[in-house]
Amino acid sequence: MSVLVYTESEEGKIKKIALEAVSYAKGIADQMGTSVTAVSINANGTSELGKYGASKVLQVSNDKLSKFNAEAYAYVVAQAAKAEDAKVIVMTSSANSKFLAPLLAVNLEAGFVPNAVGLPESTSPFKVKHNVFTNKAFAITEITTDRKIIGLGKNSYGLKENETSATSEAFSPSLDAHDFNMEVISVDKATDKVTIADAEVVVSGGRGLKGPENWGMIEELAKTLGAATACSKPVSDLGWRPHSEHVGQTGKPVASNLYIAIGISGAIQHLAGINASKVKVVINNDPEAPFFKAADYGIVGDAFEVVPKLIEKLKEFKAQNA
Ligand code: FAD
Repeated sequence: MSVLVYTESEEGKIKKIALEAVSYAKGIADQMGTSVTAVSINANGTSELGKYGASKVLQVSNDKLSKFNAEAYAYVVAQAAKAEDAKVIVMTSSANSKFLAPLLAVNLEAGFVPNAVGLPESTSPFKVKHNVFTNKAFAITEITTDRKIIGLGKNSYGLKENETSATSEAFSPSLDAHDFNMEVISVDKATDKVTIADAEVVVSGGRGLKGPENWGMIEELAKTLGAATACSKPVSDLGWRPHSEHVGQTGKPVASNLYIAIGISGAIQHLAGINASKVKVVINNDPEAPFFKAADYGIVGDAFEVVPKLIEKLKEFKAQNA
């Protein structure tokens, strides 16, 4: 009986959020006195997964699974859970994992808690703390089913190295045509830049930037920091930026390490999408802007003066520390 972790990957590379999930699974395994088995689909990364605490990696190699397919992937993870007699299954809280998890929960008759923020408060009874109401509150939920599925919120646990010599085992789940009722025909990426979902740093602009012609400095700041760019809803509604960049209650959620908000007032619907970000920096010329209440660091000033200076200082710092 091990703790099973489904490790998301992209183009054969294990994602960083999946390594955080492995670290977390190792924490639970230690609480329960057991080990971690990772299930990896069409990706290689046994030593990397071992580094964060996996003792065994079930390697699934199947061309039919080359594109993410929630239904088929759920069958794979379900079969791995049964083969390993895993009572706890860990995954991330990414959009794909949130698609997969309920299907898996039905398959395994398991209780599912998404957006977990820490190790279970206790494993008997099994109680997990998690974010609710778009990260505005916490709940502690007891999972009473025999099998339990936990979706870890991004950046909630962190990467924790736990060097383990992992063994790799080929795993060939049985999949029939009826396991592929949904088919992903193609995947079109909106951009080749860092995506908001994967970004460690996000630079976001609001209506205070006056117009799309002023986004050059946002792009430059983002490039200097290796960040993704984002925006408030009105900015995308006005067509200044693509809708893929809109964050908030009705847009994308952001759980980055650093979120820099420039010329954004901090309306509740915007904050709902960025609450899970760790450090929030706000640049706004209105000292009464509501965003300052949610900020870790605030700069009261004109974005058109502050941002170029910030870029200049960051470039200097990078040059000195190259
Ligand atoms: P504004 O409210 O116009 O604020 C601009 C800010 O820029 C001000 O604080 C101003 O002081 C500052 N500023 C102006 N000039 C400068 C300068 N030179 N330098 C520095 N600062 C400057 N919004 C979202 O973002 N995401 C959502 O998902 C979302 N969902 C919504 C859902 C519903 C149902 C509703 C009703 C609204 C939603 N909204 C959402 C809209 C939200 O309520 C706000 O209207 C919106 O977030 C405001 O965007 P903003 O801060 O860019 O613009």
